[in-house]
Amino acid sequence: MEIRKAFTAEPKIAYFSMEIGLANDVPTYSGGLGVLAGDTIRSAADLQLPMVAVTLMCRNGYFRQEINSEGRQIEHPVEWRPEDHMRLIPRKIQVSIEGRMVHVQSWRYDVKSVTGGVVPVFLLDTNLPENSDTDRSITDQLYGGDNTYRLKQELVLGIGGVRMLDALGYFGIRKYHMNEGHASLLTIELLRRFRRDIEDVWDERLVWNTDAVRELCVFTTHTPVEAGHDKFSYDIVEQVMKEEIPLSVLKRLAGEDCLNMTLLGLNLSNFINGVAKKHGEVSQNMFPGYEITSITNGVHSFTWTCDEFKALYDEYLPGWANEPELFVRVGRIPDEKIWAAHQSAKAKLLSLVRDTTGVDMSPDVLTIGFARRATAYKRADLLFSEFERLRKIGSGRLQIIYAGKAHPRDEQGKQLIARVVDYSRRLAGDIKLVYLQGYDMELALKLVSGVDIWLNTPLRPREASGTSGMKAAHNGVMNFSVLDGWWIEGHIEDFTGWAIGPEPVETTLSENMDSRDADDLYTKLDEKIIPLYYNNRPVWIRMMQNAIGKNAYYFNTHRMMRRYVTDAYIR
Ligand SMILES: *Cc1c(COP(=O)(O)O)cnc(C)c1O
Repeated sequence: MEIRKAFTAEPKIAYFSMEIGLANDVPTYSGGLGVLAGDTIRSAADLQLPMVAVTLMCRNGYFRQEINSEGRQIEHPVEWRPEDHMRLIPRKIQVSIEGRMVHVQSWRYDVKSVTGGVVPVFLLDTNLPENSDTDRSITDQLYGGDNTYRLKQELVLGIGGVRMLDALGYFGIRKYHMNEGHASLLTIELLRRFRRDIEDVWDERLVWNTDAVRELCVFTTHTPVEAGHDKFSYDIVEQVMKEEIPLSVLKRLAGEDCLNMTLLGLNLSNFINGVAKKHGEVSQNMFPGYEITSITNGVHSFTWTCDEFKALYDEYLPGWANEPELFVRVGRIPDEKIWAAHQSAKAKLLSLVRDTTGVDMSPDVLTIGFARRATAYKRADLLFSEFERLRKIGSGRLQIIYAGKAHPRDEQGKQLIARVVDYSRRLAGDIKLVYLQGYDMELALKLVSGVDIWLNTPLRPREASGTSGMKAAHNGVMNFSVLDGWWIEGHIEDFTGWAIGPEPVETTLSENMDSRDADDLYTKLDEKIIPLYYNNRPVWIRMMQNAIGKNAYYFNTHRMMRRYVTDAYIR
């Protein structure tokens, strides 16, 4: 028994991600990708999967957001002490960068589950006295710096990560899972490992055993937006990673014109997936010639359920946290208890709103939540496209809470924030609207549990999956969203929530009709959602139950991880 235990405890899956949302006060994540990675690992630990994870240290953290009185975002570094959260491992490896040996150490953070499962996470760190000042800063900033800086980071993550796992004695790895292309350079290290020692090579393909590497690799792509795929010019590649692999081989695997990290991952993985059914199709269209399937994302149920609903689920659906399938029995929870739990979560959010903005919102007014990265395709301003119509529909009947960070270099995203802040002034007196600063995991949970409906208005089909709506569903909050990403799968009109705009047919990026979507948004708010909220509470609560019983039931990372195990890891 003990021997078997030791065997199964040895990690067989190595999960690589540029960012991981480990905890709210460990600022090594920026948004959706990192939170998903964290939820993946939390579910793996609950399910006692033999997994180990690798990411970067990110000593400066992802920035703390301030929004000034003009609505401008101001970025502050986050001060945090890694030693308060994780322990330094006395083992170093080296990688070659620009012809220099760069030393890399790692910190270990254990994600532990009450089930006894543990997933160790290693955070790679180049901040060592042996390194030059510039090399010491390679792992400081998440998504900071220029392309050269970024390639160095990805080299540390991919190549350094594989070496670190070897150095730490993880010899049982059967699958390397690349969470997005940032980690694709791990394939290069694996290629070197399986390199065949052949003299008088007439065909380099015999030397580089791509089949052996492919057997080991799983690749998950996360974005249907072309610019979202990391690309590096071969000038930079030659400068940064001179000695790792002959350029001719790299070009064959990663693209002739530039090093395309997605292509590299695709070419060296025997399982490739998108993160929702639609996204799988869109990705397949973008990369014909590869077999791309899909595993729809989820969220970690326990992490994304507020205290009030946790207590309810504990009482009526015991065991739910490690078996979210039990949400199927949500109908056992009395209506009035669901409503009371929701109103209590709402009161907490509104008191946070009062404390941070001075705006006094009412617990009896229908409250819309919208929080996500402030970037153009998410269309945070669609709600305001017919401003006077919104004022007329919502006056006295709606209040609105926004949050979200713009990437420091995304000027358009920052202007979006400023515009929403400006709208809040112009609506004052009719509709209370606030923009909360510092969107992070803690604020996300307060928002998704404390509003009445969760709004999402991306440009189709750019939302690969989206996960905040799944978090809302875990707290009985209905989605009101454009049919894109996960919502295509989770939406049943007037049952789990409401759609905005038409059914999607396109699989390529195409023009969306802002005006058509906005019109639908206003019409449904005015004719369905607002009347239902104020006039038919029993049906409203039935829909809250459906959000839990149909959406949370399925869109969780326990279901998702079981799919990765059966479809990708054990094959
Ligand atoms: C869940 C989450 C996200 C991702 O939400 P999307 O709906 O996918 O945009 C981003 N940031 C934080 C802090 C989150 O908790």
